[in-house]
Amino acid sequence: MIDFIKDLILHFLMMLSLGFMYNFLWMQKRSDYKKQIFKMAILVTLLVTMALPVKFQEGMEFDFKLIPIFIAFFYLGKKDGLLLIAALLLLQSLMDFDRLPVITINYGIIFLLFFALEKTYNKSTVSRKIVLGIFVYSLITPTRLAALIKSGHADAWMYLLVFSLVSFLALSFIIYIMEMTNLQLKLMHDLHKAEKFSAISQLAASVAHEIRNPMTTIRGFMQVLQGDRNLSDDQNLFISISLQELDRTQTIINNFLALAKPNTGSMNPIDLSTILKETTAFMRSYSHLRNTELVEAIDNSLCIKGDAHEIRQVFVNILKNGIEAMPSGGSIYILAKVDKGYVRIQFRDEGIGMTKEQLARLGHPYYSTKEKGTGLGMTISYDIIQRMRGKIKVESEEGKGTIFMILLPCG
Ligand code: ADP
Ligand code: MG
Repeated sequence: MIDFIKDLILHFLMMLSLGFMYNFLWMQKRSDYKKQIFKMAILVTLLVTMALPVKFQEGMEFDFKLIPIFIAFFYLGKKDGLLLIAALLLLQSLMDFDRLPVITINYGIIFLLFFALEKTYNKSTVSRKIVLGIFVYSLITPTRLAALIKSGHADAWMYLLVFSLVSFLALSFIIYIMEMTNLQLKLMHDLHKAEKFSAISQLAASVAHEIRNPMTTIRGFMQVLQGDRNLSDDQNLFISISLQELDRTQTIINNFLALAKPNTGSMNPIDLSTILKETTAFMRSYSHLRNTELVEAIDNSLCIKGDAHEIRQVFVNILKNGIEAMPSGGSIYILAKVDKGYVRIQFRDEGIGMTKEQLARLGHPYYSTKEKGTGLGMTISYDIIQRMRGKIKVESEEGKGTIFMILLPCG
């Protein structure tokens, strides 16, 4: 009994150390090899738990194999998960060849289960991840109980119970530590982005402002020139192109100044349903021009606190991007409803989508993949939503489409 508890505590601590190791490695600024080091650590843990399992009666033992496999699969990736299962089977064949078929079947099933759960898991909140982890783990308990009964050790069910509880606890702790690490990393990244942006934008705003005045003068003189009857067709064309380009520059600068402007957004109660419906109607002619449809399902009387003008700007930016992302036509589905104290607004397009790298850069100032893009639309939108204490989430798949999800506190 004492040995059982001692072994169990040791295993528990060893598993937990994986979580702390993840935290330590991922918090390092320069760590090119963190993934490799972590993989090795997982492998060593797997080896130790298999070679020195928790013994509770003569010839009967439990181990924590599933935890390293779980971590590798969900925190390093499918490929590493599969690799680790291969390592597990190799170790198993070296240690106890007789049980290899059973273990192979078990982990085959587990791999398929992980595979099916992957998307749900990655989208879940921390607490749901823990529940999912425990759920997967608890599926093994009956098979272990069956093995106990079959080998005539049914009276050892207490050991199994304690062991299972400790495993659940270990897995929960590890998931929690790793998720908190990821959250901390994300916050650091956001903060860095915000700081850099604010310093640059303050400087640039003053420059942009200075450019606007001479541009107005140039535009005025060009217009005067355009009125001259002695101009050739070519000259007329050049002037109108120059005027168009000047207007475009002006729009870019105005957009930029709107962005750099310090927090002016008022926080008045506004009727979001009406604004969203109006904006959709407003964008409809642009969407028809580009062979796309806007399909709306907007609940009535959704209220938020914010600035009507600003929130309209966000919707226009997102809709415009969606329409532009569907060069060969398609639909944008607009949904709005109340969800747990928030108004949830969703825009789903069937466009070209984005790669992971593009998605990571979305919202950075001047990031654009379009020839005539400004790369400010999303930056402005993110800024507005943030000031309204809302959240914006983007999911995108290349070739399939993009979903923008906005949550704004009900007002
Ligand atoms: P712009 O539209 O001027 O390029 P934005 O800030 O509005 O600037 O968007 C930045 C970039 O994000 C776009 O150039 C595009 O590559 C990408 N993007 C935005 N929305 C979508 C979408 N719905 N589908 C695919 N890509 C998108
Ligand atoms: Mg845009």
